[in-house]
Amino acid sequence: MGPNRKIAFQDLPKIELHVHLDTSLSYQNIRALRPGLTVAEYNQEYVAPAQCRDLTDFLRYPASAIALLQTRENLFAALGQLVREMAADGVIYTEIRFAPLLHTDQGLQPQEVVETVCQAAREAEAETGVVTRLILCTLRHFAAAQSLETADLVIAFRDQGVVGLDLAADEAYS
Ligand SMILES: [Zn+2]
Repeated sequence: MGPNRKIAFQDLPKIELHVHLDTSLSYQNIRALRPGLTVAEYNQEYVAPAQCRDLTDFLRYPASAIALLQTRENLFAALGQLVREMAADGVIYTEIRFAPLLHTDQGLQPQEVVETVCQAAREAEAETGVVTRLILCTLRHFAAAQSLETADLVIAFRDQGVVGLDLAADEAYS
């Protein structure tokens, strides 16, 4: 293939194995949850700059998205939109990860969070054809009990699309 031959990357089938729900929300996705949000506000609050001091600095940005993902409606909508955008990029299989215990600020139980995202994944898969699996994250600064709770959720939902457990967040806490 010559150097000038263009490849239509958009159309090539792809597999996305490392996608964090809270760091992968497009402007369109966030705006559906925050009507009236401007592009400038989106860029300032939800998009990390090209250069972050360190991972701790970077992790300030997903906090804004996590604050929006505290209801069943928002979790469901955000997951669905992310999968639709992946479908448009030619993704045929994805594993999307998130930390259930970070989505309980407004009263959802962790199992309700996982249940909601599992249902959203099933419906998004049926709609788009993108095979959508989920990975549950625990965080380095969580207590052991919280990590065990997350591991138990992986087991409880393994027949509903959950395929793994992830240890995420700032390695300075390790
Ligand atoms: Zn990661």
